[in-house]
Amino acid sequence: MSREATLARIAARGPRLEPGHVWLAGAGPGDPGCLTLDVVAALGQADALVHDALVDAEVIAMAEGAEPFFVGKRGGQPSVKQEAINALLIELAGAGRRVLRLKGGDPYVFGRGGEEALALARASVPFRFLPGLTAGFAALGAAGIPPTMRGINKAVILATGHTADGEEEALDWALLARTGQPIIVYMGLKNLDRIAAALISGGLAEDTPAAIVMGATTPRERIHSATLATIAADATRLGFGSPALIAIGGIVALRAALGVQR
Ligand code: SAH
Repeated sequence: MSREATLARIAARGPRLEPGHVWLAGAGPGDPGCLTLDVVAALGQADALVHDALVDAEVIAMAEGAEPFFVGKRGGQPSVKQEAINALLIELAGAGRRVLRLKGGDPYVFGRGGEEALALARASVPFRFLPGLTAGFAALGAAGIPPTMRGINKAVILATGHTADGEEEALDWALLARTGQPIIVYMGLKNLDRIAAALISGGLAEDTPAAIVMGATTPRERIHSATLATIAADATRLGFGSPALIAIGGIVALRAALGVQR
């Protein structure tokens, strides 16, 4: 079956994006190849596309019939307030648009997708959720690090590093360290020195393997492995920037044995 025929079959099988409905969808880590077929079908049906900075320009261009609404952070400008995004989605749906709300990764993983879904539910706007590949797992895959490996770990912790600066209630990193399970940190670059120090004082060895994966699956992809003691200084010295994931734990050591697979 041709690619077009496959897509047509997927689109025909699923529900239609009706006027006045919102589909809350994940675009995956960046590469259009990581989109789900449902999201590709949705891109062809939407007439309004509300998207963030993490969504690749090539993906946005696939929504040919949609008016784009950019609601992300641009060049240090403060991002659009969550309440304003919620209001925009409700307004577009109320105007009878076919709305695709597209976010990086999976909307429900550190993406405030839950808040948007709640706002839509409260406003009685019909919506549907289309999951995406979350960057945490895509980044590990890009780096040749299996999230779980028999004999090494029995759980994986997905954490946000965003709260480590004291603005919100901080995570108890020492408690996470004591589980002995690998930790995948989203938005962790800015506070990486504090996070690493807290994990070490919580009991993780200084030589615990740690890796940083920037721009996974995109042309900006860069990967660096180090130890928990050195990762923060390395990230600064080597000029790593957002978006980046930090992986900490025994699974990271598998990278050397597996080699780069891409
Ligand atoms: N909902 C998204 C996460 C949004 S929070 C998801 O499920 O992936 C934004 C953070 O995600 C970034 O700070 C970074 O930690 C991570 N991230 C997103 N895309 C990434 C990519 N391509 N490579 C590495 N990290 C990424």
